[in-house]
Amino acid sequence: MEKLIIIGSGPAGWTAGIYAGRALLAPLLITGRAPGGQMALASEIENYPGFPQGISGQELNQLMQQQAERFGTKVQMDEVTAVELSSHPFKVTAYGDEYEAQALIIATGTYPRKLGVPGEAELTGRGVSYCATCDGFFYQDRKVIVVGGGDSAIEEAIFLTRFATQVYVVHRRNRLRAEKVFQERAFRNEKIDFIWGTVVTEIMGDGKVTGVRLKNVKTDEESTLEADGVFIYVGTTPNTGFLGGQLELDDRGNIVTNRQCHTSVPGVFAAGDVRERVLKQIATAVGSGAMAAMEAEKFIAELEDRAYPERTG
Ligand code: NAP
Repeated sequence: MEKLIIIGSGPAGWTAGIYAGRALLAPLLITGRAPGGQMALASEIENYPGFPQGISGQELNQLMQQQAERFGTKVQMDEVTAVELSSHPFKVTAYGDEYEAQALIIATGTYPRKLGVPGEAELTGRGVSYCATCDGFFYQDRKVIVVGGGDSAIEEAIFLTRFATQVYVVHRRNRLRAEKVFQERAFRNEKIDFIWGTVVTEIMGDGKVTGVRLKNVKTDEESTLEADGVFIYVGTTPNTGFLGGQLELDDRGNIVTNRQCHTSVPGVFAAGDVRERVLKQIATAVGSGAMAAMEAEKFIAELEDRAYPERTG
């Protein structure tokens, strides 16, 4: 049986691994399908302290993993499909194996939300993408569309101008949600054109993307726009389905925690973007990963004191 299992390999999970490793808990960290989570998809990270020139998401992920492993975190490449939290020790089922642990840290983050329009599912991987870092290279000298107006959409639209001749940002409002520094950079970029107050109603193509159908949200006027790729950045959804309703969630599916990262089940902690109402930044995920590990350590120490009362002195 493990003392501590950390589920998820984003910045919150790795930091929990570093802190729990240094507390000599030898935690087992189960990575999930995509190691590094949303962080690893970011083309460049400019607001995480210590990297004044910025760093790619992939590189930062590798450094965090190395640091967690250095302190004894055991890394298992697997995806958790279910947990059993009604009895103790907790049970964790992954595709490859079953595990037991005295304490759990859920750091499963989020995954990109779908737009939900015709053509999206059929053309995913054939011009529809949720990751400019992974797929941007294929759009050299081509036209692409980015959907959304948040940090991810604008940051990745700027990244895509390295490859594409033209990047259209289609946003449903007339004002961006993204950080001002991204906005200014995007407005200055001659390769980026904004299509305001407009939604994508269909992604067109036969075997590969040829363009999108658009609708102006005020006038309902419809139009089409030709493009070779569509990058969708319309927010994220928490990875909490595998919990099977055993932890309290908010109405968006995020895990409800207190400030110490305790969930509704004692011994189960949550860290990072999967928690409710958190600023979704690497810096904040790292902070909650450290907090969750320290609280898990206290929980495990109290369990052990109860099992061996003579040691409590
Ligand atoms: P986000 O901040 O939730 O933005 C989603 C964008 O998609 C919004 O502009 C939203 O429009 C639009 N949208 C949502 N549903 C839509 C729909 N059905 N059709 C059309 N447009 C739709 O998501 P995100 O950009 O992926 O970022 C997620 C979190 O990570 C945020 O908290 C963000 O700050 C953080 N993040 C930070 C950085 C960084 O600091 N460098 C980088 C990436 C992400 P409205 O604006 O009208 O709501």
